[in-house]
Amino acid sequence: MDEKSPRLPEPFKIKMVEKITLHPREKRKELIKKVDYNVFMLKAEDVFIDLLTDSGTSAMSDRQWAGMIETTQAYAGSQSYYSLEKAMKDIFGFKYFIPVHQGRAAENILFSTMIFPECYVPNNTHFDTTEANILRNKGIPVNLATEDAYDSAKVLPFKGNMDARKLEEFIREKTPEKIPLIMTTITNNSVGGQPVSMQNIKEVSVIAKKYGIPVFIDACRFAENCYFIKQREEGYRNKTIKEIARELFSYADGCTFSGKKEALTNIGGMLCTNSEELYEKFRNLTIVIEGFATYGGLACRELEAMARGLYEVVDENYQVYRHRQVEYLAKILRDGDVPIVEPPGGHAVYIDAKKFLPHIPPEQFPAQTLTVQLYIESGVRAAEIGSSCFGKIDEKTGKFIPARMELMRLAIPRRTYTDNHLKYVAECLTMLYKKRDQIKGLRRIYAPKLLGHFTARFEPIN
Ligand SMILES: *Cc1c(COP(=O)(O)O)cnc(C)c1O
Repeated sequence: MDEKSPRLPEPFKIKMVEKITLHPREKRKELIKKVDYNVFMLKAEDVFIDLLTDSGTSAMSDRQWAGMIETTQAYAGSQSYYSLEKAMKDIFGFKYFIPVHQGRAAENILFSTMIFPECYVPNNTHFDTTEANILRNKGIPVNLATEDAYDSAKVLPFKGNMDARKLEEFIREKTPEKIPLIMTTITNNSVGGQPVSMQNIKEVSVIAKKYGIPVFIDACRFAENCYFIKQREEGYRNKTIKEIARELFSYADGCTFSGKKEALTNIGGMLCTNSEELYEKFRNLTIVIEGFATYGGLACRELEAMARGLYEVVDENYQVYRHRQVEYLAKILRDGDVPIVEPPGGHAVYIDAKKFLPHIPPEQFPAQTLTVQLYIESGVRAAEIGSSCFGKIDEKTGKFIPARMELMRLAIPRRTYTDNHLKYVAECLTMLYKKRDQIKGLRRIYAPKLLGHFTARFEPIN
């Protein structure tokens, strides 16, 4: 499409709607206090626009719903398993796949099988559940994103990349025997949903092969990443999303995948490998902890919905719409001077809370504070991706080590909200930015050790 043709609207129309309610401000203040200033503890019905996550919150298509009804339920060898197998072979191209109930179940099975105490698992940046599943299996997660990823103002096409030089140095330093696998997360969720280039995937694959280490891709947002490659990387403009995906996955030995993102379903996940030996191990463990390997802890209808969703997500018209909507939100925020991570990612716009609230130190959780204030201001729920999520307590000194970045993520559920909803979000945030000086930080009064941000409790500092 050339620059002059009119901007295309959503490639769908609306068949069913759901009512949403905005409580008065005083009630929102009361509600957030009641849940100790943690938006994870709010009831969804008390949220006006829910941008907490794009995970499991997609609107399914009529074709997906129809498939769920048409397919039959069977404990073993269901028809939907074969639909999904066909889609997986066609789009991902790995030799073996196992459905699981969500992405973290795939991570659990992968790490329980492949890692050992004190080993290292490098990634561009581990997602929180990936990190937790490695720690639970006594491994050491290592993040090797390029330095550029941590500069929120720097506009670069592939800020999600792994630093290939650092990776090779790391392997040499620790020895390949201590690294059972290398991962790459596409898009790189924890640094702002930033894409990874095909070239970077290739480089990582070459290094991994040189040292005999398998590469697994955390493929949660593979199609969004492939669309970025199509837009931004030399040589891909005339390829389809599916062709790009097939090439990308051909450089890996396997992948984990959360269907709750880009299978456009509300539940589901996948674990893939090219190794028969690994497949057998994965399958045996799946049967113990998830269910038989042709349903993996899901109802068969969920498999059918994933099979159809995977084709919808690699549809170019869908990706054009998806990326345009994220860019739309980013643009209004930018116009209101709100500091966002540039360029915006594939599934979300991230606000740089260090820049939004420079007067609040990391020990007072600026990103958490902003998330709470946004709810009070607008009834909008966002997610904290800062020190509540990634801050650590030093085991020896008991000292708090803040996260590198203090981000608030506005994740956009797929096909769920219109541009008008997003415009309201941006206008409320812009208003909040104008009175940012009046905002005070939070004190954390409780947090469990692993994935503590889900249940952490806070109180305001006066
Ligand atoms: C969501 C996500 C996961 C985990 O998937 P779940 O389905 O939520 O268990 C892993 N990695 C990344 C990058 C994710 O975004």
